[in-house]
Amino acid sequence: MKFPYYKLLILLFPFLVLTSCKNDDTEEIVTDPHAENLKPLGTSAEDILSNDTYTSLTVEFAYSNEYRPLQETIDNFRDFLNARLNKPGGITFVETVIITPLESNYTISEIKELEAEKRTKYTSGNNIALFIFFANANFQNDTNSSVTLGTAYLNTSIVIFEKTLREISDTQGIDLFILEASTLQHEFGHILALVNLLNDDIHQVHEDPLHEHHCVVEECLMYFESTSTRSLLKSRSIPELDPLCIADLQAKGGI
Ligand SMILES: [Zn+2]
Ligand SMILES: [Zn+2]
Repeated sequence: MKFPYYKLLILLFPFLVLTSCKNDDTEEIVTDPHAENLKPLGTSAEDILSNDTYTSLTVEFAYSNEYRPLQETIDNFRDFLNARLNKPGGITFVETVIITPLESNYTISEIKELEAEKRTKYTSGNNIALFIFFANANFQNDTNSSVTLGTAYLNTSIVIFEKTLREISDTQGIDLFILEASTLQHEFGHILALVNLLNDDIHQVHEDPLHEHHCVVEECLMYFESTSTRSLLKSRSIPELDPLCIADLQAKGGI
C-alpha cells in the first residue's frame, strides 16, 4: 500500500486561482471566446443556482476510457442537481471520452491545459456549462499522509482524481459509489461558493474558522473532513448539506 491515508484532504485553491488570474494577460481573457468559463471559483454560483440569466445547465463528464465514474454516481449527481438548482429548461448530461496521456500525476496547470484542449461544452446563450474531469492519475501534491480526492479550480470546472478514489476504495474498503458521489457533491458545493467563498453568504457564522470555506457542522457535506476515510467508514453514506448551507444556496436563487 502506497499511502496510509489516515487523513484525506479535499484541497481548495481559490487564492491560487486568483493569483494565477492576476498574472494572466488580461487582453487574452477579454477576447477569449471561453471567458465565461474562465472565472474564479464561486463567481458563477448564482448563475448556476438561479434561472435569472441561465435557464438550463449542461454537465460534461470527461474521462479516459477506463475511468468513467459509476452510473450510480452520475444518477445520484443528477438527483442532487435537480434538488437544488432552479433550471426550468432542464439539466443535460454529456459524456466525453478523451485520450489522456499516461501521467503518474497532475498539477492544476496541467489539468487546465487538458481542459482547454478537450472540453466541448461552454456557456452560451441561456445555457451554462460545467466541466468535470475524472483524472487517470493522482494529484501532484499528494503525500504519504494526505491525498487530494478532487478540486474545484474555476467557476465551472472540477477535477475528480478517480485513480486515487479507486486506490482508496480498494485499500480502505470504502464503497466506490459513496466515495465518488461524496467527493463530486462536495466539490460542486465549492462551485456554488460554499462556504462563504465570496464573503456574501447569509449565514456566515457556520464557516469553519479553522478550515476556511468549509462548514462547522460535522455532519454537513461541506465539513472539511466530510470525505475522509474515517468519516465515510463511520457513516457509510453520502453526507448531506445542512440547513444553513441550503439556506445560503436558496439565498442565491436555488430551490
Ligand atoms: Zn472542500
Ligand atoms: Zn453546512
